[in-house]
Amino acid sequence: MDFDYDLFVIGAGSGGVRAARVAAGETGAKVALAEEDRYGGTCVIRGCVPKKLMVFASGYSTMCDDAMAYGWDIKVNGFDWHAFRAKLEAELDRLEGVYRNLLAGSGVETFDQRAKLVGPHTVELTDGTRKTAKHILIATGGRPVVPDFPGSELAITSNDIFHLPELPKRMLIVGGGYIACEFAGIMNGLGVETTQFYRGAQVLRGFDDEARGLVSDEMVKSGINLHLGSNVIEMRKVDDGIWVKATNGSEHVFDQVMYATGRAPNTGDMGLEELGIELGRKGQIVVDEYSQTKLPSVYAIGDVTDRVNLTPVAIREGMAFVETVFKANPTPVDHALIPTAIFTQPEMGTVGLSEEDAAEQEPIEVYATSFKPMQQSFAGRTDRVLMKLIVSQATRKVLGCHIVSPAAGEMIQLAGIAVKMGATKEDFDRTVAVHPTISEELVTMRQPVRTA
Ligand code: NDP
Repeated sequence: MDFDYDLFVIGAGSGGVRAARVAAGETGAKVALAEEDRYGGTCVIRGCVPKKLMVFASGYSTMCDDAMAYGWDIKVNGFDWHAFRAKLEAELDRLEGVYRNLLAGSGVETFDQRAKLVGPHTVELTDGTRKTAKHILIATGGRPVVPDFPGSELAITSNDIFHLPELPKRMLIVGGGYIACEFAGIMNGLGVETTQFYRGAQVLRGFDDEARGLVSDEMVKSGINLHLGSNVIEMRKVDDGIWVKATNGSEHVFDQVMYATGRAPNTGDMGLEELGIELGRKGQIVVDEYSQTKLPSVYAIGDVTDRVNLTPVAIREGMAFVETVFKANPTPVDHALIPTAIFTQPEMGTVGLSEEDAAEQEPIEVYATSFKPMQQSFAGRTDRVLMKLIVSQATRKVLGCHIVSPAAGEMIQLAGIAVKMGATKEDFDRTVAVHPTISEELVTMRQPVRTA
């Protein structure tokens, strides 16, 4: 049977774009891609990239104070949201252009429309056009979800935060995951009076307890009003903002309320189940280790499969898909030991098992040190950092590395190589310290602080 294309990709996020352009550029496949929104997807347009730029913007608030403590004579007149937002929007336009050019340069034909499946090899675009392809790759990502409660329509999500007409004076952020904690730090740093509600006992559930404890302490110390064990019951529009009633009965008024209570895969109205493609409990597409769905001509990668929802993972899944399908080299994606960073202030970088998970698995030694780093301490700050290694008693392998520190994201990328290679504690010890740095503590911790 003749098809219009070898590959039709739905979704121009990090995963979809990478798979499309590598399949077209490196294997000569005839590739098309459809995207209903902006090119670049969540990461580039409404996630990692604008978020990180906002982390940088907010970081300057303390940097100015620190510079003065170091002897610089400067006068800070405050943060200009409009000036920043205009630059941010221009940067996102530029990046979207880069994504479009990458596709065009690789010979990928693009359709700025929504696409849905109408057959094992057929997609239908919004204008009714049908296209056929030997393989279809779904890379439609996910979207933020706000739970249903009275007044929930007043909440914004991380999709809206980059486009606010004004920076709010008082903001509530609901949730305790990556997004909620990162934006609490950003808003607080930009001078917004920031309150965060998290329903559980400690933010960043699933990460190492000691590390998330320090992040949360530092968030509170930096001025975030963190309410643990709190949730919203009801919200209502009032003259001076949004009235919020909390589960503990307290009432508050905020200018903006942002929900960061998780994300859902974009699988609605795509014709998937009708074709026998299995969806999981959250609506995610169920795939095998080669990202193949139950319908052999259809594959799915990235957040829409809800495996590990991170940009570099979606990119890897896209590359592995091309290897498997277009280079006759079946390549499963390795989801083990993925280093990751949470851009709170201070940052957290982590790879491998938390102390709690490792202790459940096998006997361990814990090496940890917490101290005031030189740069901030000299400026009169009391910020603390944490460097922590979890070591297997039996194999001596480092099972987990957890860093809470300025630039923890940069550090964990490198520590991640060692951990992924199976480095032992003694390998860390044999490595000479780089002095004076924060990260040197990773190779100078001699005695375990505890065993478990
Ligand atoms: P997460 O799933 O990480 O966190 C959701 C948070 O909302 C949890 O604290 C959860 O609480 C809470 N929550 C869920 N439902 C409700 C509810 N009904 N009422 C109140 N609270 C609720 O989602 P995020 O939105 O923060 O992030 C989504 C994903 O995006 C992450 O998992 C991550 O993969 C990715 N991401 C990665 C980043 C990075 O690499 N730096 C940055 C941003 C996002 P509980 O813990 O009790 O379930």
